[in-house]
Amino acid sequence: PGAAARLTARGLVRRYGGIEAVAGVDLTAPPGRITALIGPNGAGKSTLFDCLAGTVRPDAGRVLLGGREVTRRPAHARVRLGLARTFQQIAVFPTLSVADNVRVGAEQRPGARRDARAVDAATGRALALVGLQELAAQPAGEQPTGVLRLVELARALAGDPRVLLLDEPAAGLDTAQTARLVAVLRGLADRGMALLLVEHDPDLVAELADTVYAMADGRVVTHGPAGAVLADARVARAWGPDR
Ligand code: ATP
Repeated sequence: PGAAARLTARGLVRRYGGIEAVAGVDLTAPPGRITALIGPNGAGKSTLFDCLAGTVRPDAGRVLLGGREVTRRPAHARVRLGLARTFQQIAVFPTLSVADNVRVGAEQRPGARRDARAVDAATGRALALVGLQELAAQPAGEQPTGVLRLVELARALAGDPRVLLLDEPAAGLDTAQTARLVAVLRGLADRGMALLLVEHDPDLVAELADTVYAMADGRVVTHGPAGAVLADARVARAWGPDR
C-alpha cells in the first residue's frame, strides 16, 4: 500500500426497503487523524462502514480511497489498496493460535504468497504492536473478548493498511486494554494512518478522536473537532442521555 491515503464518502445513500439507512453522507477520514463516528442505534453507522469497506453497494454516491474511485470495487480490491477493518461482531478462527489468526491478515499483503518471511515479520510486528506476543501460541478460541478485539486489530494491522476502519474497538476491553488500545491507535495516526472508528463511549471518543461525525437517521447531524461536536446540544439529544 505505501503512501498515506484518505478515505472519502460523497453523497452516499443506501436504502433497505423503505428505509434510508444512509441518507446522503459526506465524510472524510484524513491521514494522520482519528475520526470517530457516533450516533444512536440505527443511525446508519454500520451501513456506512459497510459501504466504505465494500461489503454493501451504495444506491448513490461515491467512495474514494487515496484519491481513487472505489465505489464499484469489491471489498477485497479495497483491501489491496490499503483498507482494513475490524467488526463489531468478533470473528476469529477459534482453533487457530492467536498468531495464526493475525497471519491471515499478513497474508493479504500484496505478494505475500511469494514471501513467507515477510508474512512472518508482519505477523510478529502486528502482535508486538498490540502487546500480544505472550499469547501468540495460545488457541484464539480460549481467549476472552478483550484479547480477541486485540487479535482482530492485529490481524487488520498485519496487512499494513493505509486506512483502518474500527467498529467499536473498545467493546469488552478492560481499563488496561483500553489504555493500550488508545496508545496503539494514536501511534498509528501519528505515523500517517487514517483511522475511522465507530464508538459508543463518549469519554473514549473525547480522548481519542480528532474529528467527530455525529449521525442520526442516516444523516450527518454535525461534524468537527471532537470537543465541539461532543458539546453540541443536537448531539446530546440524539446520542444521550442514556449513553
Ligand atoms: P447500531 O449502533 O445498532 O449498530 P447503526 O448506527 O450501525 O446501529 P445500522 O445498523 O447501519 O445502524 O442501521 C441503520 C438502519 O438500517 C436501521 O433502521 C436498520 O434497521 C436498517 N438496516 C441495516 N441493515 C439492514 C439490512 N441488512 N436489512 C434491512 N434493514 C437494515
